[in-house]
Amino acid sequence: MSGPDSVRAMTDCLFCKIVSGDVPAEIVRESDRALAFRDINPQAPTHVLVIPREHHPNVGELAAADPGLLAEVLREANQVAVDEGVAGEGFRVVFNTGPRAGQTVFHVHAHVIGGRDLNWPPG
Ligand code: IMP
Repeated sequence: MSGPDSVRAMTDCLFCKIVSGDVPAEIVRESDRALAFRDINPQAPTHVLVIPREHHPNVGELAAADPGLLAEVLREANQVAVDEGVAGEGFRVVFNTGPRAGQTVFHVHAHVIGGRDLNWPPG
């Protein structure tokens, strides 16, 4: 995202503020273009959010704008699972997309969830 939208996003967006360091977070991984930090309200023993540093509202818009950056977010999500010791037993990567799916922060984020049995279908 560029231009006035990106300026507005950086001033209003909670996860942009985590990227800039204005809001604290428990960071577990950093790469040039992505950041992983623990969810403040964990739903499982492992619950980490992986975001691109650049503001994109949701996974569909990120895929359209910069598929390489989406691939980086997914690589980082997998590495989080390896680092947390849940890759072998199984984990879930979830992009809630839109209000009806429960998206509350409109800066795309992958939830990496693991460390317990995960039900299907999700609620
Ligand atoms: P969503 O509901 O899929 O948009 O996920 C947003 C997630 O961000 C939720 O799981 C929240 O618990 C989490 N969250 C909200 N504020 C913070 C924060 O300041 N630090 C870390 N996680 C947060």
